[in-house]
Parts: sequence; C-alpha cells; structure tokens
Amino acid sequence: MKFTPETYKVPDRAMTSFIDEEEIWNYITNTAATSEKIRAIINKSLAKQRLTLEEVATLINADDPALIDEIKEGARQLKQQVYGNRIVLFAPLYVGNKCANNCSYCGFRAGNQHAVRKTLNDDELVSEIEALEENGQKRLILVYGEHRTYSPEFIAANVRTAYAVKKGNGEIRRVNINAAPMEIEGYRVLKEAGIGTFQVFQETYHREAYKQYHLSGKKTDYDYRLTSLDRAQEAGLDDVGIGALFGLYDWRFEVMALVRHTNHLEACYNVGPHTISFPRIKDASGLMSGDKYFVSDEDFARLIAILRLAVPYTGMILTAREPETLRNELIQYGVSQIDGGTKIELGSYAEKEKNENLDKGQFKINDDRALSEIIDELLEQDMLPSFCTSCYRRGRTGEHFMEFSVPGFIKRFCTPNALLTLAEYIEDYAGEKTAQKGWKAIEKNIGTLDEKMQQSVREKIGKIRDGERDLYY
Ligand code: SAM
Ligand code: SF4
Repeated sequence: MKFTPETYKVPDRAMTSFIDEEEIWNYITNTAATSEKIRAIINKSLAKQRLTLEEVATLINADDPALIDEIKEGARQLKQQVYGNRIVLFAPLYVGNKCANNCSYCGFRAGNQHAVRKTLNDDELVSEIEALEENGQKRLILVYGEHRTYSPEFIAANVRTAYAVKKGNGEIRRVNINAAPMEIEGYRVLKEAGIGTFQVFQETYHREAYKQYHLSGKKTDYDYRLTSLDRAQEAGLDDVGIGALFGLYDWRFEVMALVRHTNHLEACYNVGPHTISFPRIKDASGLMSGDKYFVSDEDFARLIAILRLAVPYTGMILTAREPETLRNELIQYGVSQIDGGTKIELGSYAEKEKNENLDKGQFKINDDRALSEIIDELLEQDMLPSFCTSCYRRGRTGEHFMEFSVPGFIKRFCTPNALLTLAEYIEDYAGEKTAQKGWKAIEKNIGTLDEKMQQSVREKIGKIRDGERDLYY
C-alpha cells in the first residue's frame, strides 16, 4: 500500500496502519547509494527541503566510511545553520513505576519480582520538584509506568503541583509527559493542565518484533499505541513526541518508520512531532532482551545524523542513557535537547548521596553528571545551554518548524531566550568558574544579534541582575 495524504485525511481509531513494512523494506533493499546521490540529498537537506523516504533509504545505504563521514558532516552543518550552538536542558522525574505490562526490556515490567514498586505521594513529589528547582531545572518530563493508578486526572494533578512549587527563585515552567497512551478524553484533561509535549515511543515499528517483546498487558496492542498521538491531536494536543527504542529490531527499519510516522502526522494535522527520541536499550533489572539488533556506537551516530538530515525541523532528544563522551560527540550531529543531572530511581533527587540501584530504576543511566557539570562542559565546548520555555507559553506551537522556516526566528526568539535563561541560571545557581564562562558566552552570543536586539537583551539581563525573573520574548 502506498501512502497518499488523502488516505489519512480523517483519522480515527480504526484507521489503517500507516506503517507499511513491505514499502519500507522495498526502499531499503532497492535503493543504491552513490556519492553523487548522497551529496545531492545532503544539499537538498541543507537547502531546507524535507527528504522523501527514498532519499532517507539512500542515506541509510551509504556504507562507505567516507560517505558516512559526509553524512555526519552534513548533519553537523545543518545543525549549525538551523539551530546554532544552543542546547536545551531538561530533567526526567519518575513519578511511579507500577506497571501492568510486560515489556521484556524494561525493569518496571509487571513480571519483574525484584522491582521495588513506588509511587511518589504529594509530599515526596514536592520534595523532588524542590530539589530539581534548587539545581536550576526549569523543564521537566514526568515519567510513569502503565497502571490504572496513573489516570489522566492523577497525572494532571502532578502537573499542577509541578507548576505550583516555587523554591527560592526556582520554578518549573514546562512539564512534559511520558506515560501510557490515552483516550482522546484523557489527552484533553492533560491539555487542560497545561502540559508541554506528550511522548509515546512506539519502541519498535516492526509488528512481529513488537509482538515478541510485549508479552502481556495493554501495550501488546501495536495499533492502539501507533495511533495514540493521533488521538492526542484530536484532543487538540498538538505537541507530541515520537521515538523508537533502538536495539529491538533493525535500526534501518526504525529510522524509516520514524520518518514515516513524522510524514503521517504532518499530512494529517499539518504539524509533525515536536521531538524524536532514540533511546538505545540499556541494562535493566532482570533484563530479558537479546542482542541480535544491538546498535553499535558507530551506527548510532550514523542514524542520528540521518534523522537530522531527514527531518531538519524536528527537535531531537538524547538522554543520559548514553555516556558523556559519546553524548558530546552526538550532540554535534543535530541533537537539540539533552537531560542533565538525571536520576531515575524514584525519589532520588531529594536524596543527598548517590545510590544507584537497578531494582529501583527502569534501566541503567551512563551519564550521571550533575546539571552544573553539564552546563560547565557545554560552555567549555562553546555551546549555549538554554532553559527556554517561551514558545509554548507564548502560544507559538510547532516552534521547531518555525525555527527552521521563519527567517530570523532564532535571532529574534531562541538565542535571546537562551541568553536570558542562562543569565538567570548564573545568577541563581552557578559557581564562580561557571559564572565566568557563562557571562563570557553571553557576551559572545549577544554579538551575533542585531543592534536593536542586543540593546533589548542587555536591558533585560540588567533587570535579571537586579532580581527580576522569567523575562522572555
Ligand atoms: N510506561 C510508559 C510506556 O511504556 O510508554 C512510559 C514509558 S517508559 C517509562 C519510557 C521509555 O523508556 C520507554 O518507552 C522505552 O522506550 C524506554 N526504555 C524501557 N526500557 C529501557 C531500557 N532497558 N533501556 C533503555 N530505554 C528503555
Ligand atoms: Fe511498563 Fe512502560 Fe516499562 Fe513497558 S516500558 S514495562 S509499559 S514502564
């Protein structure tokens, strides 16, 4: 079955799957990669045109190391041109790990007898949020297992708490959600509570592989999950995040399917996913997962670069599942958001000492640097850490598309807001050395703005130094 936008004009819960495995495999098997073709595709992407599935398959088929380097270099250039040196920071907050499903790769699965089950109560939730605010966090993603306890109303109440807690100058300004797929009504409840992005990862887009890893519970329903973000769109929640868990099936197939999912959302709702995530399987309590489809670091870098070129206007998230050195490299290929100061054991932000326990977390993280260390190192690498939450609060949704397509958008909004949020961070949380680096970076980046904007940003930074907070464009 070939995709035509018309086929999906009126999506409903019974719609035909838009993932056509035969079509995807046909592209992968029958598309040859020559250096001329690869260069033309990279240039198309650099000219800010979206790529077709056939072109993505061509990039995937470039196995020659020299061509892979060209793809990575293309992604690096695109990232520089489109997003500049900004990197947005957030933290995950695990609220509850009760789970009725059995995903064989996940430490939270119902059948894992070793898992220590916990759901944060109101006081614990507040303590966690306070601890996160004390570190300077402004953007959270609340994470849940799939369980009847974690109803839309329960999650909405958590979201309201997160926005309400104010510790010192700290506050949470954007709350995203990673939880089980919902009915349309459930998404409405969350929209009402003011969430940012709702993320659902398909894990694997390959139906047969999906069946093998999802052993029992509601998550066994591939189609219900695949259409979950269509329901979000129908509820008016147009800010959604997709993802695949790399290591479950062939990475080439998953990359094609992520692009296909993006096309589907764009064709049906005129807005693609806000973000794409590409977690790689990590060790988990009682992990039951083969390594047949293990994705090497080299292939991981390659697939991130290909995704960047394929969907230039979509945010890309790289988490602390990956180790520091690899993260530093991968950021260059087009990642726009990373988590910092991450702890995934329930209730651990409020605990003072480090105490990693696989039975309390979902999987093992490999970058346990504090937020302050990450900021310091980003500055060292000439990156601009940002806690910006402005677009969504100003009603500019679909912002990544705007960043990409509206001339001057980055200079008018993204860079100034990054500078203001960094200035706040320095004033409230940074040590002396980081502060010095930070002010230097601010000065340097102000220089990239036009004169009027330079003056305006300087005025606002003056106000921040005088104690005002939450200034943004
Ligand atoms: N329970 C909800 C669900 O399944 O959609 C929320 C998601 S789960 C808490 C967050 C994501 O972590 C999953 O969607 C999956 O992609 C990822 N994940 C699960 N086990 C993992 C592992 N062993 N290593 C890396 N990522 C994992
Ligand atoms: Fe439960 Fe989600 Fe883990 Fe699956 S991935 S076992 S649904 S928490």
